[in-house]
Amino acid sequence: MAGKDSATNLIPEEFLHLAAQPDSLTARTAERFGVTPQTFLNWRWHMKHQVVNAEQAAAVLRLSTSESEGFEKLQHLFNAGITPYYMGLMTSSLVDGNESCPIRLQALPRNEELRDSLGVKDPLSEVPHSPVREVVHVYPDRVAFCVAQLCPVYCRYCFRKRRDEEVGLHFNRTIVDNGIAYIASNPAIRDVLITGGDPFIAADQTLEHLVQRLRAIPHVEIIRFGTRTPVTLPYRVTADLARMLARYHPIYVNTHFNCAEEITPEATQAVANLVNHGIPVGNQAVLLKGVNDSPEKMMALCRQLMKIRARPYYVFHPHAIEGTEHLRVSVRRGIEIMKSLRGNITGLAIPTYALDTPSGKIPIQHNYILGHEGDDLILETIRGEIWRETGVYQ
Ligand code: SF4
Repeated sequence: MAGKDSATNLIPEEFLHLAAQPDSLTARTAERFGVTPQTFLNWRWHMKHQVVNAEQAAAVLRLSTSESEGFEKLQHLFNAGITPYYMGLMTSSLVDGNESCPIRLQALPRNEELRDSLGVKDPLSEVPHSPVREVVHVYPDRVAFCVAQLCPVYCRYCFRKRRDEEVGLHFNRTIVDNGIAYIASNPAIRDVLITGGDPFIAADQTLEHLVQRLRAIPHVEIIRFGTRTPVTLPYRVTADLARMLARYHPIYVNTHFNCAEEITPEATQAVANLVNHGIPVGNQAVLLKGVNDSPEKMMALCRQLMKIRARPYYVFHPHAIEGTEHLRVSVRRGIEIMKSLRGNITGLAIPTYALDTPSGKIPIQHNYILGHEGDDLILETIRGEIWRETGVYQ
């Protein structure tokens, strides 16, 4: 069949039109990496050719001193790993050599990571909240099941950096078996978030086997995936994968776009593959300095997400993770940014701004309730006027 190089369908047909356009991100970046656009559509090729050191990065991009030193000095702390596709976002749509490019800030190691007075390894205390290895159980009705360790891009602000220090966690058989047994023995768990690492970095058959085992547990109602592949390796999100997952509905996917520059035709196709198979896609962004910390950047992100049918779901306040001081933003700034969206874009496009804590997520927002007078509620409108809603308080 056209476009398929083996039984595992590593060249997804639905992306071929992008490979055929000489000006597409796919075609231009493939050329920069010296491969055919068809090879560039193979997600496993990207995992085998992740950019992991300064020499490889400098072959396609001009590095700053901070970045090339960062590659060297941070190897033992948090390894770099970037798909050629995501490198292409730095070289094609944005100005090469621009250190403030939001894509570079998220993926390239920098000297600044070595200067952090507050950062910790496990800001959500996930380890003590895991009754069995890699099953994080904070809320009674749901768990995060961290089956994956590998990611297409190692985001510099990742709150699970600590897992980088160990090897052999990716779809580890014992971890998966013990996790399934824990979920099966707890009838209160009705919602399982499969995450990691990036759980889409596995063969379709591996994922299907995992989903089948979860679906065999009567009390598991909802299965969700947390994956950044639509952003960092969109070719992985094939129609075949979506078709397989759709056999086990209700399935939901949460992805993680942080800026409008990440929303490319390739990412659009990845999200379409999911949504066209009835899989709702939500987006969880992290508020990051230089990436999305202005009303304009956040608005652009939310608008673009709506256009590709990825619903803005959460914006997380950045955790105090070690090595991320240069990316952190104040809560006051976060509230201002989120307030600026209200009234200027549909409510459907406004994500919940939240601080995730070891005890769960806490929504944060501008306080529109000024007080009450008897039964009358006194509010600030989204235009900054005072509004009295009579007889509603008690
Ligand atoms: S994709 Fe997610 S788990 Fe992987 S490095 Fe980025 S933030 Fe961390």
